[in-house]
Amino acid sequence: MTHLAVAIMVESLQIALNMASVAAEQGADLVEYRIDRFTDDEADIQELIRRSPLPCIVTCRPNWEGGDYDGDDQKRLSILEHAGLAQPAYLDLELAAFERSANLRQKIKLVIDHADQGRPTPTGLILSSHDFTTRPADLMRKVNAMVHEPAARVVKFAFKARSLRDNIEAFEILRAGHKPTIALCMGPFGLPSRVLAGKFGALLTFAGLDDQTTTAPGQVGVRTMKSLYRWDHINPDTRVYGVIGHPVEHSMSPAIHNAGFDAVGHDGVYLPLPIMPEYEQFKATVGQWLEYAPLHFRGASVTLPHKENLLRFVKEMGGQIEELSQWIGAANTLVVREDGGLHACNTDYAAALDSVCAALGGGREKLSGLRVGIIGAGGVARAVAAGFARHGSTVVLYNRTLEKAGALADQMNAIAASGGKVVAADLAKLCKSCCQVYVNCTPIGMHPEVGQTPMPELPKLEPGTVVFDTIYNPARTRLLAEAQQAGAKTINGIEMFVLQAARQFELWTNQPAPIALFRNIMRQKLGE
Ligand code: NAP
Repeated sequence: MTHLAVAIMVESLQIALNMASVAAEQGADLVEYRIDRFTDDEADIQELIRRSPLPCIVTCRPNWEGGDYDGDDQKRLSILEHAGLAQPAYLDLELAAFERSANLRQKIKLVIDHADQGRPTPTGLILSSHDFTTRPADLMRKVNAMVHEPAARVVKFAFKARSLRDNIEAFEILRAGHKPTIALCMGPFGLPSRVLAGKFGALLTFAGLDDQTTTAPGQVGVRTMKSLYRWDHINPDTRVYGVIGHPVEHSMSPAIHNAGFDAVGHDGVYLPLPIMPEYEQFKATVGQWLEYAPLHFRGASVTLPHKENLLRFVKEMGGQIEELSQWIGAANTLVVREDGGLHACNTDYAAALDSVCAALGGGREKLSGLRVGIIGAGGVARAVAAGFARHGSTVVLYNRTLEKAGALADQMNAIAASGGKVVAADLAKLCKSCCQVYVNCTPIGMHPEVGQTPMPELPKLEPGTVVFDTIYNPARTRLLAEAQQAGAKTINGIEMFVLQAARQFELWTNQPAPIALFRNIMRQKLGE
């Protein structure tokens, strides 16, 4: 079993004990006391260990290895010896210190359990190595040295990931399984190594008491590990999904999909997967994640700036691409089939069409002959326009830059179903428009510019007109509030977000998505 250890930077005996009690209540099963700044009273350190509500690791990390201890090694050794006498579960010591000093090796061995220890003690030695700047060039030498050190019960590696690809190296170190091992990647690219530690048989992973109270870059809180990232469900067969983009830290997709996996009992976990914008980065990372079979990487939502990259990648890999995605020139969903085959599709346009159909009270047949005004000519407008044109609607593209709308109209006319067509119009003409559906595909009115609207002067809205704002923050934009007042049926961007996520979920799990749950999570997150 992989432990969930909460790391506590000790400032005082009582506060540290209180924090450890909270960690235990939250479901951690181990604590690490970082005594880097708590070195004055050896008796207090021993009391901390003896009264700890959870088995503990004691670490006094020097600043030359990224910690806060700035004293000399003699004093540190004396502190660790005293700590050892109180018999914590583990003492942590850096490989560099261990290799450097025979005196330190000899003294540490007096208080830890190892083959030549004369008296019984439960305390194991964690031999550790950290690099806060990069993957160390001599990583494998260090792995070898630690694994072959008989006094080390556990080996620990932590280094800053340069990209998601470095997580695979951490997984491989864990899978080698020579000794109980901790292998973690730090920084924004390292989250998979923390969350998936249990999948690859790590001794433990670290979490903070909460998302702010952490001791290493990239660590998240214990609640986030357990309730957002499904810590208690992760096992060697767990399937891995995520949202690929840059940036992705604030994406709401992990909350939605992980709660969905919980609700339907799907053995999966969904992570934010940042990949730098270049196609080569996308190709190398996704390619490696797909190739690495023990990861069970089964799919991804793909957002800016990688929607075009996904299409190109799946094409190069000989995968299957949904026809309309091909025309749109962008896809937002990667599905990895059981046989490894790839499928790319675009659930954005489908979600937009279904939202409008629901408001019109019918199926896709309702879209034929409909007059639809789309505001904007960017990525979302392109997907939405393609969807309507393909179903026989007449689409008018209103855009600030008229030429851009004109170019898009030309492309979309090539795929319009019979009866459907796409034309470009000046944004200034919007107030004289006579469409049955309006879709805002610009950021105008989005938080924090909530006082703005893309339609400062509403056109005359016939009864039954639908006004749809793809913006979801805020859910009720100025455009929607004014359109509703003028008698229109309104749809907000939450609905589109939820439906595009629901389609992805169904493609990955083959189970109906818990849509009401998705809506509730979005509303909660947006403070609705
Ligand atoms: P994009 O490619 O950058 O396109 C933005 C469009 O908005 C462009 O046509 C641009 O006009 C126009 N625009 C931007 N600022 C403007 C302004 N001040 N005045 C007039 N026009 C302006 O963006 P996108 O990816 O299509 O995303 C558009 C919006 O869709 C986002 O802001 C987001 O709110 C929404 N969205 C919703 C969901 C969902 O699931 N609900 C998902 C993704 C996106 P020019 O061509 O003249 O530059």
